[in-house]
Amino acid sequence: MNKREKFLSFSPPFIGKEEIEEVAKVLSSGWLTMGKKVFEFEELFKEYIGCKHAIAVSSCTAALHLSLIVCGVNEGDEVITTPFTFAATAEVILYQRAFPVFVDIEKDTFNISCSLIEEKVTERTKAILPVHIFGQSADMDPILEIAKKHSLYVIEDAAHAIEAVYKGRKIGRIGDLTCFSFYATKNVTTGEGGMITTEHEDWAKKLKILRLHGISHDAWKRYSDEGFCFYDILMQGYKYNMTDIQAAIGIKQLERINTFLEIRKRYWSMYDEAFLQMDELILPKINKDCVHARHIYAVLLRLEELNINRNQFIHELMRENIGTAVHYPPLHLTSLYRRMGYKKGDFPNTEWVCERILSLPLTPALKEEDINDVIFAVKKILHLYKRKKSFPTS
Ligand SMILES: *Cc1c(COP(=O)(O)O)cnc(C)c1O
Repeated sequence: MNKREKFLSFSPPFIGKEEIEEVAKVLSSGWLTMGKKVFEFEELFKEYIGCKHAIAVSSCTAALHLSLIVCGVNEGDEVITTPFTFAATAEVILYQRAFPVFVDIEKDTFNISCSLIEEKVTERTKAILPVHIFGQSADMDPILEIAKKHSLYVIEDAAHAIEAVYKGRKIGRIGDLTCFSFYATKNVTTGEGGMITTEHEDWAKKLKILRLHGISHDAWKRYSDEGFCFYDILMQGYKYNMTDIQAAIGIKQLERINTFLEIRKRYWSMYDEAFLQMDELILPKINKDCVHARHIYAVLLRLEELNINRNQFIHELMRENIGTAVHYPPLHLTSLYRRMGYKKGDFPNTEWVCERILSLPLTPALKEEDINDVIFAVKKILHLYKRKKSFPTS
């Protein structure tokens, strides 16, 4: 078997004729921005999660930002999170002129190391912001306990974790606020989009005002057939609303969420089975008492067994026409955070993982043959660059 003929892109979205037809309906309806479809999507999402309130916004970044605002995070405050995440998680803390205080991750689950959180709590700490990395929930019980003890809010970055369940409790109704992403590569997409879930009614009301310029609740109707209405500006808000075009895609995606997850599970097992015997790889660990959302299948290279580093490995896979990704470069070692004083050696587990990790394609938009091509290419490269063990000659 030779290399694939066509490049396999890492994470194409799964869009069917259902989404296309639903978007076409919105386009010909005469109403494009936030309206009935957005509210319908919120209702369906609320039902899916089983939470009290769901507020649709333009992205998970917007969701995280508004969540910090309703928790009262302000200039000089501190928010605890991990450096093993996407830029957005910590960036929103900076939006509020507050400090992201990083805590290292566990080497096997890549989630925040709960035993290291409490020593980072100060008088300025306002919230803990765990990330359910790759779809596996962070260990929420100790996080909730620390938060309760020190009167902190818990805001969850669930961009990877729509389907996740933590010890029988659905992600989206555990912490104070949970933020989801519908970015193009995520398990459920609206192209761009996000959702906040919460059990607090007063926060839900405030979030709905904040997402549209701080103007009074029904202002979105101001051009509808219900007639022109004067509106009041209640507080400084943002342009963070979702549109009916996006919601139309989301409604159809949410209908197929379980089918998508089954396909992801199947591909995940194909990788697990194929790589089980490969000493050069460390495979992802799934906590038995939780439901994993299977967003990203990431393996670690055992560099001591190979004559090749991670970046070279990715390059070799590219030459085999297989697209991969790195989730993530260590956030604290990017220029921005170095300027805040973070440096190499600060988070040993994160740095160790970041040097070895790579993500393999895993989306229902791919075929089983595609997954087999990935497996074939990975095995071929591992075989080529396996470090030979030899006895000393003298
Ligand atoms: C994608 C992602 C985000 C941001 O989501 P957007 O909807 O693109 O704003 C935040 N956190 C994590 C961990 C992500 O992967």
